[in-house]
Amino acid sequence: MNQFNAIWYICFEHKFAKNQRVKKMLRYDQLSYWEREQYLVGNAFVIVGAGLVGLSTALSLHDRFPDEKIMVLERGYLPTGASTKNAGFTCFGSPSELQDDLQHMPAEKVWQTIELRLKGLELLKKRVGAAPMHYRNCGSWDLIGAQEPDINAEFIADLNAQFNAHFGLENVYQKDPHFQEKFGFNGFHSAYFNAYEGSIDTSKMIAQLFQQCVAAGIQFLFATEVKSWVSGQNEVSIETSYGELSAQHLFLCTNGFAQTYFPDELRPARAQVLVTKPLTHRVNGTFHSDRGYYYFRDIGQRILLGGGRHLDFQTETSTEFEKNERIRTALLHKLTEEILPGQAFEIDHEWSGIMCVGAEKKPIIRSLNKNVHAGVRMGGMGVAIGSAVGAALSKLV
Ligand SMILES: Cc1cc2nc3c(=O)[nH]c(=O)nc-3n(C[C@H](O)[C@H](O)[C@H](O)COP(=O)(O)OP(=O)(O)OC[C@H]3O[C@@H](n4cnc5c(N)ncnc54)[C@H](O)[C@@H]3O)c2cc1C
Repeated sequence: MNQFNAIWYICFEHKFAKNQRVKKMLRYDQLSYWEREQYLVGNAFVIVGAGLVGLSTALSLHDRFPDEKIMVLERGYLPTGASTKNAGFTCFGSPSELQDDLQHMPAEKVWQTIELRLKGLELLKKRVGAAPMHYRNCGSWDLIGAQEPDINAEFIADLNAQFNAHFGLENVYQKDPHFQEKFGFNGFHSAYFNAYEGSIDTSKMIAQLFQQCVAAGIQFLFATEVKSWVSGQNEVSIETSYGELSAQHLFLCTNGFAQTYFPDELRPARAQVLVTKPLTHRVNGTFHSDRGYYYFRDIGQRILLGGGRHLDFQTETSTEFEKNERIRTALLHKLTEEILPGQAFEIDHEWSGIMCVGAEKKPIIRSLNKNVHAGVRMGGMGVAIGSAVGAALSKLV
């Protein structure tokens, strides 16, 4: 055997051994008595998905039923959907987004969703606390592009009046005549400031919720995919990649991966994000444009920019964590021409995440039968509504 072959052989052996190890994960029927009692027996509630909605549901169930055994099953080694991949905007609607929503949905449903977003944010802040998730009340700006008509002043006044009447919030949206001098952007003629919005570090949020779950005795099996379930009279049998377990109630918190259960009501929606290397010029705040289809913010000296899904809806209806070159090019163009005009920048990192959308921009919070329940279709609003959806799901039992 020459040296090259020897190296190849060692690599092959190593890969083979690794594959064998993965294959040798024990099935549930091979677990010890102790393991079986600890993890598989006596679960009152099993939750599928360890994203924001899954963890919030687990915590809300624990609040309501502190003595019950709760298990979260997650197929990734980390939550693998949207909850640790999002932009971290604590947002409840920009004027151009709400104008678009009101054109496509009955006003009553639009205001119900806004209410859920505000309630969810309140619960999230109460549960996690501002500092542990790096919450900043930095405000947001809705930037109106040079080619777009300005938003009617009467529409803004009406929104403000409605926010005041529904939620007691004053002057939510105000035209900011100084945004150009403040930020040096290019290609926008107007901006509407919202002092009530802000940002978080989205991974810190999930890490905090996970720690709270562990402290509450909620158990987790990661790298465990739920394949199917069958509802019985008083319990649900859940088939996973390693065998079967049962629970009194099953909660599906799988968002963009839940199409099997709601084929006509939801679909996955991929979203792409870029982060620059640290810049000399600092922008402080969160920004939306084009009905919320583009969004950017600072992370320290860097800019995070995401969106552009509307440029290629068809390709982006996907659960694959891939990049879309067409959208990437548009995002780079936005950075060069509009956000950082005349400034050199380099991209440090990029990724995609999977959201869930449908005909209605409103979450589905529903019992499929008496012991299976679902909280899905969070759109681009999950950071805000996720905690409220978890609380609502816990009340279905
Ligand atoms: C790029 C991007 C930017 C965003 N920006 C914002 C923002 O700024 N503000 C905002 O409010 N929202 C934003 N969102 C949306 C927000 O992140 C989501 O709405 C929210 O995270 C959804 O949470 P979830 O728990 O419902 O779903 P997810 O976080 O997707 O969690 C679902 C989990 O279920 C698991 N799972 C799926 N199928 C199975 C199975 N069969 N067995 C076991 N586990 C399974 C997945 O692995 C996943 O971890 C953004 C999303 C993306 C992708």
